[in-house]
Amino acid sequence: MYFKVWGCRGSIPTPSTLDFDTRRFGGHTTCFEIRTRYNGQEEISIVDMGTGIMGLGNHLIRQLQNKEIQRIEARIFITHIHLDHTFGMGFFAPLFITGQQIEFFALQMPAAFRDLNNQLASLIDGIQFPRHLDQLPSIGSNNENKKAIHDVKFWEVMDFETVRVKVFELNHPSGCAGWHFQERASDGSYTGPIISIATDTEHFSVTNPNVQKLGRDADLLILDGMYEEDQYYGQAPDRSNSKLGWGHSTPRASIREASECGAKRLGITHHDPSHDDRFLASMEAKARRYNRRLKKPVPEVFFLREGMFLEI
Ligand SMILES: [Zn+2]
Ligand SMILES: [Zn+2]
Repeated sequence: MYFKVWGCRGSIPTPSTLDFDTRRFGGHTTCFEIRTRYNGQEEISIVDMGTGIMGLGNHLIRQLQNKEIQRIEARIFITHIHLDHTFGMGFFAPLFITGQQIEFFALQMPAAFRDLNNQLASLIDGIQFPRHLDQLPSIGSNNENKKAIHDVKFWEVMDFETVRVKVFELNHPSGCAGWHFQERASDGSYTGPIISIATDTEHFSVTNPNVQKLGRDADLLILDGMYEEDQYYGQAPDRSNSKLGWGHSTPRASIREASECGAKRLGITHHDPSHDDRFLASMEAKARRYNRRLKKPVPEVFFLREGMFLEI
């Protein structure tokens, strides 16, 4: 099972400037690639279409040109439709090449009122973006057959050739899906390694039962740790600038979740656009010190960096 980070910035892309360096942790918004294998077959799952997806799309096209693959087949699992998780969609070049097979999965959010087809069509609508969803060659014809775009319900379990995917509900304004990927083992059962992803979620003051189920025994758990503790609770004396209710978490809260659910590795993500490399490195060091003081420390804690990849 392979995991690669194409974007791990929260809220808005954050390019480096002369006095604000983001080259180490990266400036692209959320996009992760997961490759799973079974019986000689490999499948590609993508989590979110933040601006990081542009680099992944170009990489897949290079693989196609070099004949390493016959066609691009990928399933995109969307955590939620907030812009930082979707505004790379129109720049995912495989969508514009005939004959590719790209499918989309998202949780039907009660607050969204519209199905995924309508939500994606509102992003790629021919007005704000120069093409309409139905004109994209790799999904246009599939879309007519309703094969490319899937609305998923809470707790749904989907079995594919190489991986079982489950969806969990998270705390976030207008909802967010946590995605759980378990690779198929050599005996055919879905008991292989687990990657669990909760990009945008708030912890409040306790561990969240849904995150606990999502992260149970995960080989790699990816959790939101956007804010420092003082930023989350508010630096103003009256706490008027607190981020309570904004739907994001802190590294400490993520570590407590990971420790409680027995995750083997914790990758912290959704880096705040006001945090440069130097600040994120100091947050990471503080998070590790906090983890070491716990009764049951998480075996490995790190902040995600763009370009990072892991074999699980
Ligand atoms: Zn976000
Ligand atoms: Zn969000």
